[in-house]
Amino acid sequence: MKAFVKVLALALCVALIGGVFAGCTNTTTAPSTTDDATATTAAPVAGEELVMGTNAAFPPYEFTDDQGNVVGIDAEIAQAIADKLGMTLVIKDMEFDSLLTAVAGGSIDIVLAGLTVTEERKQSVNFTDTYAKGVQVIIVKEGSAIKSVDDLEGKTIGVQAGTTGDIYCTDDFGQENVKQFANGTLAVAALVNDQVDCVVIDNEPAKNFVAANAGLAILETAYTEEDYAAAIAKENTELLDKVNAAMAELKADGTIDAIIGKYITAE
Ligand code: GLN
Repeated sequence: MKAFVKVLALALCVALIGGVFAGCTNTTTAPSTTDDATATTAAPVAGEELVMGTNAAFPPYEFTDDQGNVVGIDAEIAQAIADKLGMTLVIKDMEFDSLLTAVAGGSIDIVLAGLTVTEERKQSVNFTDTYAKGVQVIIVKEGSAIKSVDDLEGKTIGVQAGTTGDIYCTDDFGQENVKQFANGTLAVAALVNDQVDCVVIDNEPAKNFVAANAGLAILETAYTEEDYAAAIAKENTELLDKVNAAMAELKADGTIDAIIGKYITAE
């Protein structure tokens, strides 16, 4: 009997502490996309948080809705993964440039940010299996003299700091020709205001930015093609294995395709 009371008291404490922490969270939780939240992949501590870092200025992968919630493809995929693992998703909106340091340092568990897999990044983090393709494209003002990558020599190129667009352009055209911005919105605003001659950025955000700003166009010739994956700290191989297993199930049952299809219409 006594033991039972102890267990009950302990359960009550856990529930209370859990409630307090949940109440303190000021980050957003993405809406659940799957009805079936049964954890078939793994069985971590129920309610354990999965803290995802992203930069919510990258539509349709991540952006904020009218209520200030982070939504988009990555938020929904992360929610589906968290549901499978029986974890609670918490999303932190950060500068793109600080995401990899944050995940390597342990202040966040996972990065989903339309993040391109590169050999250099693999030195500091582990990547999950890939879940989408990206293409670096060039946005110009309509009627620009820039018609392809070959015309970029000596031009001022706007990029998002720390992105692959930034890295490739700096390598190919020199740092003095590349202007870094904290996110794509600011880089595109600089193009609209003639502070840069073009912006090199991922194709899906590029389409969104061009749709939102009159007088811009995406060049037909792409810069490079790449793969997107989530990043996890090197030592956290347990989470890496769980996320990969959950992702494999979500790929196999069509969930990931359905999420991407909600935001990107096939051409
Ligand atoms: N795919 C690009 C990269 O990983 C840009 C990602 C982003 O800006 N969110 O560098």
